[in-house]
Amino acid sequence: MNIILFGPPGAGKGTQAKYLIKKINGFQISTGDMLRNEIKNNSEIGKKIFHDMNEGKFISDDIVNKLIKDVIFDPKKKNKLIFDGYPRSLSQAKNLDFLLENSHQKVDLIFFLNVKKDIIVKRIEKRKNLENRSDDDLDTILKRYDFYMETTKPVLKYYSKKSNFHEIDGSLEIDQITSKINTFLEV
Ligand code: AMP
Repeated sequence: MNIILFGPPGAGKGTQAKYLIKKINGFQISTGDMLRNEIKNNSEIGKKIFHDMNEGKFISDDIVNKLIKDVIFDPKKKNKLIFDGYPRSLSQAKNLDFLLENSHQKVDLIFFLNVKKDIIVKRIEKRKNLENRSDDDLDTILKRYDFYMETTKPVLKYYSKKSNFHEIDGSLEIDQITSKINTFLEV
């Protein structure tokens, strides 16, 4: 079973990915983590992407597509892929289809965790009060949210036509989202 978790920052993709790792014995494929790792290791890619990452811009399809390739062809991970944060562009979505086909796999389920802006704001406010954080995060997060929603429109259009696409209300509690996901795993 290969699963795509799609949705804006703050929708809870990472949390659900962690659940799915246990549930299907899967591997979380977070391109965000992979890119942050490149920066940490000060690799050639890391040096190239440093500024764009800091500014919350998307990294080029070429770089991301290259990073993802080995993972898809890793026999240990075959049919246990849980994509979190990939694909983010139409070119990445098509590249994913291509790589999966070439490794005799497919996308089994696509979950769009859809969460509206006001819910994100509420969540951040709550966290701010709990953790005594300053206001600085809110602006950045909202900018990233807007950018994500705008930029990924073609991907959403591409996936929403497919029969294995499921939109889930990302404003629900974590457990409620998990149980919705579960209903599709068990059919
Ligand atoms: P994330 O951890 O998924 O929120 O990603 C953090 C940052 O990594 C994003 O703001 C982008 O700069 C970059 N990034 C992660 N995944 C991708 C992707 N699939 N395509 C382009 N940029 C990405």
